[in-house]
Amino acid sequence: MKSISEPHNKSNEQQHDDMSKFNILTYPDIFLSQPTQPLDNIDGKVQEMIDKMALTMYDAPGIGLAAIQVGWDKSVLIYDISPRDESRSLQVLINPKVITQEGEILSENEGCLSVPDFRADVKRAASITVEGHDRDGNPMKIDAEGILAIVLQHEIDHLNGTLFIERISSLKRQMYKRRVKKKLSAGSK
Ligand SMILES: [Zn+2]
Repeated sequence: MKSISEPHNKSNEQQHDDMSKFNILTYPDIFLSQPTQPLDNIDGKVQEMIDKMALTMYDAPGIGLAAIQVGWDKSVLIYDISPRDESRSLQVLINPKVITQEGEILSENEGCLSVPDFRADVKRAASITVEGHDRDGNPMKIDAEGILAIVLQHEIDHLNGTLFIERISSLKRQMYKRRVKKKLSAGSK
């Protein structure tokens, strides 16, 4: 998920294009609409993937990223909702399951790293309880509300192959899809 507010200017420091980051898949990549598989073995390779996901998310910048967005079809998501001026606090959730969800809030101006240049209001549950595992395989239970509840719902949607544009009015969705189509056909000429 994208940051709530975009930074005013990106650092002048040009990020050198190395292998430390993933490319983020964007709509209409069909991979993004595929449900992911549970992760059943947390090994060193998985830790490497998570570290690389984290670099990718912070660089974007985003506050959440699901494995499927970088082409990894496993049930893994990361997020960090700590304010910009505070130190980073990377959270990893593996095989998350929503146990309960209650109420309704409007997630204003939601954005997604896989849906560039588009934001929309999305109805979300106001509070959710999620169970899963951390990156060491320890069981976790999270009671979330507010921005954390929104980020978790957004990222868990990704793991189920759902983009946030599937949760907005069909009119707005069609508008966005037309725009992407136009852009793609312009680019292929
Ligand atoms: Zn997203």
